[in-house]
Amino acid sequence: MSLRAIRGRLLTFLRAPQGAGDAQSYSYHHDGVVLVADGRVDALGPTAELMARIPPGTPIDHHPDALILPGFIDPHIHFPQTQVIASYGAQLLEWLEKYTFVEEQKFADPAHAARNAEFFLDELARNGTTTACAYCTAHPASAEALFSAAHKRNTGMIAGNSVMNRNAPPGLLAPAATAIADSRDLIRRWHGTGRQRYAVTPRFAITSTGDQLAALGALLKEFPTVLMQTHLDENVNEIAAIKNLFPDDASYTAVYARFGLLGPRSLMGHCIHLTDDEIALLRDTRSVAVFCPTSNLFIGSGLFDYQRLKTAGVRIALATDVGGGTSYSMLRTAAEAYKVMQLQGQNLPALAAFDLMTRGNAAALGLDGEIGTIAPGAFADLVVLDARATPAMAHRMEVARNLEEELFVLMTLGDDRAVRQTYIAGEPALNEERTSVALSSEIT
Ligand SMILES: [Zn+2]
Repeated sequence: MSLRAIRGRLLTFLRAPQGAGDAQSYSYHHDGVVLVADGRVDALGPTAELMARIPPGTPIDHHPDALILPGFIDPHIHFPQTQVIASYGAQLLEWLEKYTFVEEQKFADPAHAARNAEFFLDELARNGTTTACAYCTAHPASAEALFSAAHKRNTGMIAGNSVMNRNAPPGLLAPAATAIADSRDLIRRWHGTGRQRYAVTPRFAITSTGDQLAALGALLKEFPTVLMQTHLDENVNEIAAIKNLFPDDASYTAVYARFGLLGPRSLMGHCIHLTDDEIALLRDTRSVAVFCPTSNLFIGSGLFDYQRLKTAGVRIALATDVGGGTSYSMLRTAAEAYKVMQLQGQNLPALAAFDLMTRGNAAALGLDGEIGTIAPGAFADLVVLDARATPAMAHRMEVARNLEEELFVLMTLGDDRAVRQTYIAGEPALNEERTSVALSSEIT
């Protein structure tokens, strides 16, 4: 049996915080240890109690002063957009044509896909993200490259090839029958292979005919444990185009509902311009609205109304949406979520943000208990965070009074520099650990 002990300040969430200061929502050990056996959490607790139970010779990684949390989960990101991120001056439909579709066509080349898969997984690990739900391109080689690379690293990825049969360049289109055959083949090869899972992925209803969406709905029925990811109500011109393409449907959401694409494993990216009827459809089908703040601001799509959806009982997740999104960092993403909510008179307490990035996003993917938590039986996917990673952070931390304030400093000022180490199934994923710029006041 392979054993490792990881020691530091342990923080994991037990349920969604009711608001700022909800100390019942999490478990915290100021000096704690996670004992990892064969990639999963075997035990955790205060160092003073647990050390006696750790077999002699077990390697101990000690991260004094650092916070150890479950690894971040990014439930909406585009694997082929690592060279689309930071593309200037366009809103959604123009941005897709001008930048995205151009880059995505390069993934027909398996060598290009393989090189990008390694970069993508390295970059996620540098940012403390241990599971992501990724869009690939229409070429089966792209999903194949990502799954193969993730499987080798034993990191749990969810991915699917983006299915399109209209309104995109010919190199990215596949007729319904071919797209379904490709998706089915990838599901058989990868869904449940090691830690990998498949998500059926219509890009959005503009790029698929009703026939293709119906075939994807049937595929979900055939494989009920597979996830589904798509885009919904991101941009007003997109919604107008949907009205033209599907004139008989009451709404954009109703299009997906008609083809059997809503449900508890369905991740609907953006959900900015929803009507009350659409919100009711999402709630009743237990579909997930995925909040992508850096993307929504960058592409100028609009402000996600977190409170409206939460009050209505819609499940919510938080994601980067790279390359429309501008950072791989879930910390940067939480910072922008906070600002989007501030603009609407809402607040995102640090506890709620960190719960969302870990336990909350795991629950949105239906993987709670397996990831997003530090608990016996869960994969030991962990992020080690340093709230004093930069001079500005260390300086600010001199006056931080408690854990919640430290978390808020991390999400407001932090990025990949605050990630000291990332563990994937108990193994360190970063070659070099970063160190704090300065050690100052002790946080209790
Ligand atoms: Zn997206």
